Amino acid sequence: AYDDIISLPGYIDFLLSDINLSSQISKNIKLKLPIVSSPMDTVTESQMAIYMALLGGIGIIHANNTTEEQVKEVMKVKRYSNGIIEEPVIFNPEQTVADVRRAIEYYGFSGFPITIDGKVNSKLLGMVSGRDIDFAEDEELLKNIMTTELITLNSSGSSSTLREGQEIIKKNKINRLPLVDDDYNLISLICKKDVKNKKNYPNATRHNETLQLMVGAAISTHPGYKERSDELVKAGVDLLVLDSSQGNSIFQVEAIEYLKNKYPQIDIIGGNVVTVDQAKVLIDAGVDGLRVGMGIGSICTTQEVCGVGRPQATSVFKVAEYSRHFKVPVIADGGISNTGHITKALSLG
Ligand code: NAD
Repeated sequence: AYDDIISLPGYIDFLLSDINLSSQISKNIKLKLPIVSSPMDTVTESQMAIYMALLGGIGIIHANNTTEEQVKEVMKVKRYSNGIIEEPVIFNPEQTVADVRRAIEYYGFSGFPITIDGKVNSKLLGMVSGRDIDFAEDEELLKNIMTTELITLNSSGSSSTLREGQEIIKKNKINRLPLVDDDYNLISLICKKDVKNKKNYPNATRHNETLQLMVGAAISTHPGYKERSDELVKAGVDLLVLDSSQGNSIFQVEAIEYLKNKYPQIDIIGGNVVTVDQAKVLIDAGVDGLRVGMGIGSICTTQEVCGVGRPQATSVFKVAEYSRHFKVPVIADGGISNTGHITKALSLG
């Protein structure tokens, strides 16, 4: 076990700031801070996942909920911090203050463009934000209270648009900047919060192209996981984690093969495993990462109750030693319980 191991000190010929902990957690996802919040139980919802990703880790939204609830949590993370928001939430002028209040509650942000038909690529008429509706009645129409004098940026869609937009936001001290085409149709939106986030959270785990925060979602192998995965992928999830105490099963092999075939672009983490034999089965099925650990968390009683498991240091060492031949990254479960355990897990591979 971790507590049976003590590491020998080495020689220091570097600065703390030279230390680079960035690691793959799956074949295609690299984290600057290799810490993942658990897919189990109800540990991770959007708030946890947002801060995990802002700080350089990643959160895995749990599956002990309905598909609709899990998708909503994934979408909150995906919408939290964008570079350019390609699909902003939009209203039309005939909608009401009550519609906006509902959207603020649902999405957690509070400024929306208004176009002639409430869709993107249509004439921009105004913006509505919390400030506009503070003292308005629920049934008030947006056309009567929206802000119509707007600062906008004519977007050519060039790679400098985001930088130009950020400068305009800073200079004019505005919260949101709509991007429009030559006919004043709304194309997309840039938000101040995202500009600030980029500065305040330099390690954030972001998608290379969309610059959105990355997020994973837990799924089981029980009937219904295919429909759930479809909805999660549609919502923009970056990673799926099969959450089971014992990943070495026909159910997980079938699920991995199905998911890799249907969504080759989404990384799948399988597990949990503690032996090379278990890891081999899941690697052969096509996993992009493995979750290691059985009965090692501080509140987990699997080793006592079921009499199965393995000390975590041995599990990490054995599985990592085997998996590295196939470039399949390994996540050590339960390391968060003690920073010494994190150090030991990292040194074991
Ligand atoms: P599970 O869904 O993998 O397994 C539950 C049971 O259902 C098992 O008997 C399994 O073989 C069976 N099963 C799975 N897919 C099936 C299918 N398609 N058809 C028929 N039967 C199927 O879940 P679990 O192992 O009970 O784990 C539940 C939760 O508890 C997870 O969040 C897990 O992470 C957590 N847990 C973790 C540990 C650990 O030490 N890491 C230990 C216990 C539980």
